[in-house]
Amino acid sequence: MIISELKPLSEILGYLEGERKIFLVGCKGCAEVCHTGDEPQVLEMKQKLEQEGKTVTGYCVIDFLCDKALVKTRLLPHEAEIDAADSLLVMTCGIGVQATAAVVNKLTHPATNTISLGGARGEWRGSERCRECGDCVLDLTGGICPLTACTKGLINGPCGGAKDGRCEVEPDVRECGWQLIYERLKKLGRLEKMKAMPPPKNYLKMQPPKQLRSTIMWALEQQETKV
Ligand code: SF4
Ligand code: SF4
Repeated sequence: MIISELKPLSEILGYLEGERKIFLVGCKGCAEVCHTGDEPQVLEMKQKLEQEGKTVTGYCVIDFLCDKALVKTRLLPHEAEIDAADSLLVMTCGIGVQATAAVVNKLTHPATNTISLGGARGEWRGSERCRECGDCVLDLTGGICPLTACTKGLINGPCGGAKDGRCEVEPDVRECGWQLIYERLKKLGRLEKMKAMPPPKNYLKMQPPKQLRSTIMWALEQQETKV
């Protein structure tokens, strides 16, 4: 299971600055269990945004937001509400935000941070990847994760080594993640996002939270093998 926790409202409102109409997306998978993206949470977020003067054009809670085909199908009946929105706020893990961003033509903001589980991982095998970094930056990157799409995990822009859009590390198999981010933001008319400089990443947040590190599973995993 993928664990997510809601970002502070102030951070979410910062993402939505200059945007008035928002479409909300929730998830009935892991995010429902974490109470970050189930229907009550989505409705609570709707109320909070409306109190802040935003218009919520509609919302949709989908079974598994990490399934791109499912996301596309379920969002189809909401096309007019999505068209009317300036952006989408997605209340689920980093994979779900990326999957949503891949199927809509709007800027997609993450409402949560995905945190490390420290043992079991989600079973999703799609092309989106999340390193559970605990401080999601997808807002700045058009919904493409720089930690996984860029071979070096760079969060402040490309290394400069890409050639013809291919990553210098593995040109045969990988496109440059930052080229993909650039193209996505250009398509959305939001290239100004690339000028933002996120603060240095706190890699300590990639550690599983304390309460998970105290489980028997974690303790067993840390023991040296003596066979
Ligand atoms: S920035 Fe990437 S690794 Fe971090 S939570 Fe978001 S999707 Fe996951
Ligand atoms: S070429 Fe692109 S994907 Fe490869 S390491 Fe440099 S910035 Fe990252």
